[in-house]
Amino acid sequence: MIKYLILVSLFSFSILACQNKTESKENKPVIEKTDNTGPEYTSRYICPMYCKGSGADTMGICPVCGMDYELNPEFKGSEL
Ligand SMILES: [Zn+2]
Repeated sequence: MIKYLILVSLFSFSILACQNKTESKENKPVIEKTDNTGPEYTSRYICPMYCKGSGADTMGICPVCGMDYELNPEFKGSEL
């Protein structure tokens, strides 16, 4: 019985190891999907560099990189 358990655990371990290998193989240099849901993407005015923490409802400059905000063509706000 104990031998059987050891065999089973070894077997499942090898399966897990195989799965890990295939996963790492499939993990090719995938281009990271950028999270476009932050205010630096959804605000009416956004930094052209999409700096984190940037974005505003009014024209201004990015507090992070100092570039002028640009009107966000993707802005979907209700207020206009
Ligand atoms: Zn910026």
